[in-house]
Amino acid sequence: MSSDANTPVLRNCIRLPLPQDELLEVTAKAKDYAIMHGAAMRSKTAFSPDSLNFAPFVLVPSSFPRKEFEKAVALQPIINRLMHNVAHDEEFITTTLAETIKVDEFTANLFNIYRKVLAHGFTQVRFQISLGMLRSDLMLESGCPELSPRALRQAAGEDRDQDAVAVGKGGAGTAAAAAGRKQMELEMEMELELEMEKEEQAERMERMEEHGAIQLCRATKEREHRAAGIQSAYCCWKQVEINTIASGFGHLGPASKTIQRFVLSELGHADKLHNMPNNKALSGLCDGMVKAWDIYAKPKAVILFIIEDVSYNICDQRFHEFYIRETYPHIKVLRRTLTEVHREGKLGLAKELLLGTQEVAVIYFRAGYEPGHYHSQAEWDARYLMETSLAIKCPSIHYHLAGTKKVQQALAQPAVLERFINDPEEIKAVGKIFTGLYSLDDNEAGNASYEMALRTPERFVLKPQREGGGNNVYGVDIPDALKRMSRVERSAWILMDLIHPPLTKGYMVRPGGDMPPQIVDMVSELGIFGVVIGDAEHIVHNYQAGHMLRTKLSTANEGGVAAGLGALDSPYLIDSDEEY
Ligand code: ADP
Ligand code: MG
Repeated sequence: MSSDANTPVLRNCIRLPLPQDELLEVTAKAKDYAIMHGAAMRSKTAFSPDSLNFAPFVLVPSSFPRKEFEKAVALQPIINRLMHNVAHDEEFITTTLAETIKVDEFTANLFNIYRKVLAHGFTQVRFQISLGMLRSDLMLESGCPELSPRALRQAAGEDRDQDAVAVGKGGAGTAAAAAGRKQMELEMEMELELEMEKEEQAERMERMEEHGAIQLCRATKEREHRAAGIQSAYCCWKQVEINTIASGFGHLGPASKTIQRFVLSELGHADKLHNMPNNKALSGLCDGMVKAWDIYAKPKAVILFIIEDVSYNICDQRFHEFYIRETYPHIKVLRRTLTEVHREGKLGLAKELLLGTQEVAVIYFRAGYEPGHYHSQAEWDARYLMETSLAIKCPSIHYHLAGTKKVQQALAQPAVLERFINDPEEIKAVGKIFTGLYSLDDNEAGNASYEMALRTPERFVLKPQREGGGNNVYGVDIPDALKRMSRVERSAWILMDLIHPPLTKGYMVRPGGDMPPQIVDMVSELGIFGVVIGDAEHIVHNYQAGHMLRTKLSTANEGGVAAGLGALDSPYLIDSDEEY
């Protein structure tokens, strides 16, 4: 839905379509390969704890501009530090969520735990170690003229032949040229819109100065790029969201690469494997848990995974557990639901968390991020019990709150980053990843965003304070949704500019799907993992920890793999629009 006929298409890593026979054979093999390498899930329609289906996957890796991928990887430690500082800023969290918690019961419940923990004494919280295992999700933005030499070349009438080959289909060159022209038109439209907004909302635009400056200097940048004949890949990227709780795909991310590496080799393209970047997400995340376990320094203590009542995405949890046991044979992992923790858990004399007689060193939440995980007060009590214990939480309650959409929206406002980052270059780099994010609080700015959403809903996505997919409202559905809310209720939501990722074309393979699969139009979302460990005063570990790529049909609003709309994928890094 975020694409239309004029959306640019990224070239494929190999020429498609594949001959029918070859496609049938390699797809059947890849399905078995996926199941046998744990790229799998429990079936929701025919659930059995004794069996697995392969997880939906894209047959060959989707292209992704190398420069943008590397930029995202390099930025992750800065984002880690930013989120760590945000999580430890009581005033910022409290002010930012003040309106939201008046109307959003779930966030209010989390915030209550936060407040109670703070009331226990600032010192304790201040020196309490947190384990952040974050995932920053992003999409390429095809309408980003700063890095859009393809559109510029086409608009200038250059490189037409090269583009016809690059897209790899009869007539696609013309389509690409049209896409280029359309893109330029869109950009001009955007400039115009900006001008109008400027007039209408002079005050708001003043606060948006930095963003505005970026937009307004586009024209100059375009001329510069054209003069330099820059061949960089033609999209920048924008952050979709940052996850601080239950950031999944630590196993399925690398597993996706394993399948696609196998497929490319089977198809005779082993020479291309070097363009698939290493992905150490599983070890990066699990080593993070073990580093926290080391800090806790009790050799007999365990790592506790908090899980849903039924874990469909079981491979993405068990492989973490198995990695820890295989790599660190002396460390035990336990799995418990919130309900079970309520039943079995208690605090020891020194506030250590005990499950029966076992002391817990580290708690890794793979559940607890949505209201449905809290069946009654018992589960909230369990969450509070864990929060007040000595165990190192991933996430601590303040990290959980720092990951709300409302906080993300607040961070995207000009000048806010300065509160958390010292280096001006870093502020600039992080500032660029935000697309427009708007408050819907009951005040002047919030009401202006409300009016803007009613006027041009197709530009936006409306998001509540929820995780796990399926909660957002898109485009033309926004006005009805907003009109059903009272002014105060709106402050539980934020408004965000829609990102328009380029398309890729490929085969999506799903359990029970067409055999052989058809070529479909797809868009991808990249997630970069980060691990950060520390307390309010010090960060002791901070690193980027691998990545994951999820791909969905271009017509789908959301692409959760566990939710059933997306497919496992991994990036194939490209440098420019050159031939295969
Ligand atoms: P959740 O916490 O439920 O995962 P997200 O903010 O990640 O919420 O939104 C869910 C999905 O919706 C994303 O994975 C992406 O596919 C789509 N989406 C979210 N924000 C945007 C956006 N600004 N532009 C385009 N698609 C978006
Ligand atoms: Mg998401």
